[in-house]
Amino acid sequence: MRALCWNGINDLRVELVADPEIVNPRDVILKVKLSTTCGSDLHFIDGYIPTMRAGDVIGHEFMGEIVEVGREVKKVKRGDRVVVPSFISCGNCWYCQHDMFSLCDNTHPKPELQEPLLGYHTAGIYGYTHAFGGYAGSHAEYIRVPHADVDCFVVPDGVRDEQALFLSDAAPTGFMGADFCNIQPGDVIAVWGCGGVGQMAIQSAFLLGAERVIAIDRFPERLHMVKQQTRAETINYTKVDSVLDVLKEMTGGRGPDACIDAVGMEAHGTGVGYAYDRVKQALHLESDRGSALREAIYACRKGGVLAMLGVYGLMDKFPLGLLTNKGMTLRTAQQHGQKYVPRLLDYVQKGQLDPSYLATHYFPLEQGPRAYEMFKKKEDGLLRAVFTP
Ligand SMILES: [Zn+2]
Ligand SMILES: [Zn+2]
Repeated sequence: MRALCWNGINDLRVELVADPEIVNPRDVILKVKLSTTCGSDLHFIDGYIPTMRAGDVIGHEFMGEIVEVGREVKKVKRGDRVVVPSFISCGNCWYCQHDMFSLCDNTHPKPELQEPLLGYHTAGIYGYTHAFGGYAGSHAEYIRVPHADVDCFVVPDGVRDEQALFLSDAAPTGFMGADFCNIQPGDVIAVWGCGGVGQMAIQSAFLLGAERVIAIDRFPERLHMVKQQTRAETINYTKVDSVLDVLKEMTGGRGPDACIDAVGMEAHGTGVGYAYDRVKQALHLESDRGSALREAIYACRKGGVLAMLGVYGLMDKFPLGLLTNKGMTLRTAQQHGQKYVPRLLDYVQKGQLDPSYLATHYFPLEQGPRAYEMFKKKEDGLLRAVFTP
């Protein structure tokens, strides 16, 4: 089959690779209908996250049709149209039983690569480095999905492919961020980053009852999209002197009740702190540029919640003492998609959520390298590139 493969830093190629096969009796093989780029892919494409190997198939956000079924699969069947969360979960371990699906104990086949970094291993993820399990990714014609009864969610009639696609990762990640904020009536939520995850966090905050949402980014087209799709207010941080001051002004001096960071380690910003981060990261002295995260901690009201969805490695100048002095709560996780997908499918079916607008550009698989280049540079207002393998 054809697949989009990583071959080195900033070197993606479409190659012919072996078709996936049923390995365990609970596996299914999916014919991929749609698969999309994710901001976190850029971290290993740029070489910030190691343990990729030449020839690895990338991609972790996808939906498709089941074409082959292992003999112990009971709940889904051949021909089902399904969406699959990006983290692989067994459904049976202590973590899965407690709805912490991305921390599953049983789906990381190479824990020895991750335990030295984290102390314990996480769940495996599709198409995302050997430190995260080395599973083949979804930018391909077919993909093997383990634990299919737990990880495949049948897409009901009335929910279109391009709506279901983003329930794989962007929507549950954004929704989890809003869920972390423990939103109460009257709450004001600020969201840094208006990429796919940020857009979904904004929508989710409203679904969970936020009175106001304030979206912060530097791309006018992304902020415009927020305005078109929601009643959120927006701040272009390149157009103001101080985001903190603007947020204070907008909230009567109190600050947002909760802040969601949907940016991550390749954050852009302004000022001396950002320039310092940029130089250090370029010299590999620091893996992360944390300007958005630091700003969110400063701007949050006292006693507020910081929901961190961006992916970070190591960071210096992390203002840990602020969390204590301001009595803040930090909540973070990789997405526990299996917990949220049924609820999100319900929202989509009822017309309360339509994530399909994230798909600004469609490409055949052959144009994968070009699509990632455009995605990285955010050319032509590209928010998410979607492949149709
Ligand atoms: Zn992702
Ligand atoms: Zn598990």
